[in-house]
Amino acid sequence: MIWIDGTLVSKGESGVYGERVVQGYRVWDPYRSKYAALATKRKQRDLDLTPDMKVLYLGAANGTTVSHVADYVEVVYAVEFAPHPMQDLLMVARRRKNVIPIMADAGRPEQYAPLLEQVDLLYQDVAQPTQVAIAIANLIFLRPDGQLILMLKTRSVDVSKDPKEVATGAAEELTAAGLVVESVDWLAPYHLDHAALVCRKVQK
Ligand code: SAM
Repeated sequence: MIWIDGTLVSKGESGVYGERVVQGYRVWDPYRSKYAALATKRKQRDLDLTPDMKVLYLGAANGTTVSHVADYVEVVYAVEFAPHPMQDLLMVARRRKNVIPIMADAGRPEQYAPLLEQVDLLYQDVAQPTQVAIAIANLIFLRPDGQLILMLKTRSVDVSKDPKEVATGAAEELTAAGLVVESVDWLAPYHLDHAALVCRKVQK
């Protein structure tokens, strides 16, 4: 991925959400995007999005992060169920031909299964109490050895529990579903009480 003076950027048509442009590149703001926050916080800069990647993105909202991911990869299947952000997402898809907007409930993958192919990255940011179950239900689309990045909003899962306890519980559920949880990163100061769980689907 492209970094300019420690700032993550992407190369694509600008003007999606008023993002800054530096040296012709779109600044990918870690305060606006959990993916950018995760990439910025990882000292080893080891997250990668490459031109041959297919991505299933759950919780696309108005396409802010989707637009940056699409600047790097082959195709992004972007699932969102709320009509209002969907309107903005459709505008993003109009300008980026590799974004496939899908209006559907990510908890019901059978609804959009006919539109999908196997993906290399399953990215999930739905901020719901059932986040982990939704991620697991969508593993059918992830190729063996593919990556799941789950942006866990711990307060949505259980506001009464310690965020670390919620993250540990989520990691246990994902492990039981056959994933290897490779890392858990907290996204503060960019996003409070959010943990990013990076997982690998073990080859069968
Ligand atoms: N990922 C976005 C970004 O970085 O620009 C922000 C996502 S926002 C935190 C969560 C989004 O998930 C909301 O737009 C919400 O409507 C959507 N969402 C929540 N539950 C969903 C579900 N079951 N299926 C599809 N979308 C869902």
